[in-house]
Amino acid sequence: AEPALSLRDLRVTFRGSSGPVPAVNGVSLDAYPGQVLAIVGESGSGKSATALASIGLLPDSATVDGSVLINGTDLNAMPEKQRVPLRGSSIAMVFQDALAALNPYRTIGRQIGDAYRMHHDVDRSTARERAVEVLGRVGIREPERRVHDYPHEFSGGMRQRAMIAMAIVNEPAILIADEPTTALDVTVQRQVLDLLTGLTDDLGMALVLITHDLGVVAETADQIAVMYGGRIVESGSVLDIFDRPAHPYTRALLRATPNLESPGRLAAIPGLPASGTNLPAGCPFHPRCAFAAEVGETCRTERPSLETRPGTSGHRAACHYTAEKELPHD
Ligand code: SF4
Ligand code: MG
Repeated sequence: AEPALSLRDLRVTFRGSSGPVPAVNGVSLDAYPGQVLAIVGESGSGKSATALASIGLLPDSATVDGSVLINGTDLNAMPEKQRVPLRGSSIAMVFQDALAALNPYRTIGRQIGDAYRMHHDVDRSTARERAVEVLGRVGIREPERRVHDYPHEFSGGMRQRAMIAMAIVNEPAILIADEPTTALDVTVQRQVLDLLTGLTDDLGMALVLITHDLGVVAETADQIAVMYGGRIVESGSVLDIFDRPAHPYTRALLRATPNLESPGRLAAIPGLPASGTNLPAGCPFHPRCAFAAEVGETCRTERPSLETRPGTSGHRAACHYTAEKELPHD
């Protein structure tokens, strides 16, 4: 299958008070229909800027270079006027904070119906029927009654479902979800992730899941891209990333992620994350990397490029150490 979303050498720079601040420094990736691509990284890694650039929703203070191909058409090369009809119908987004994304003064049904009417020439009652249908699809019980509720009458988990309903009402080819479950408790988190993967299958959408939490992606993602300092430092299948990580940062992230097998083994990553205002030369991870000393000078001066691992189809890593050998076992 062709990718639904392809980023090619995406670069995002913000205008800061003391000069340009790079947030995304050359990201290329593909998201396929019916699959979940997780973009994982700490705050400041550039994952949210990548997401917002993909849907063309960055503020005017940002410059976006490179291509954002949606079913082959470059969104970044279009004037805003041409992007508007694509937003919602071809590509849609859900956020962490449903309360901020929903209008408190309009019923849930009206908001979902209005999103539908943006792309379909139908009357209010037809749009409300569609709202009832998608509310049911996202697991809201008694949708015929709930469609008349206001956002504050929904629980946090239900609001998240309502926002998802609004995002999928026009059956977009691509859904971007930025930390969609971070504000929810663990049980509800699992339910919302299951809902998103179910919708990905049923609608054949490409789901791009943005998260800081590797624990969230193990059972959810098909492909994973790990970002650090505005770049992808490792990408591959879930097995590649979890069973044979090839970047010291990925391995450190895995060790900092709670899981059932080793709940007591959490190890925080020392040092501060790289960011646009603090982007080390060479490998951006070198000030925090346990292997940099062994490699030496090269890590501090030469930026490693993202290379496919020998003998794999699509497991890529950007590291001078693992370009030569495997990471040692514990
Ligand atoms: Fe560590 Fe060097 Fe690899 Fe960067 S390139 S992750 S500093 S070993
Ligand atoms: Mg973010």
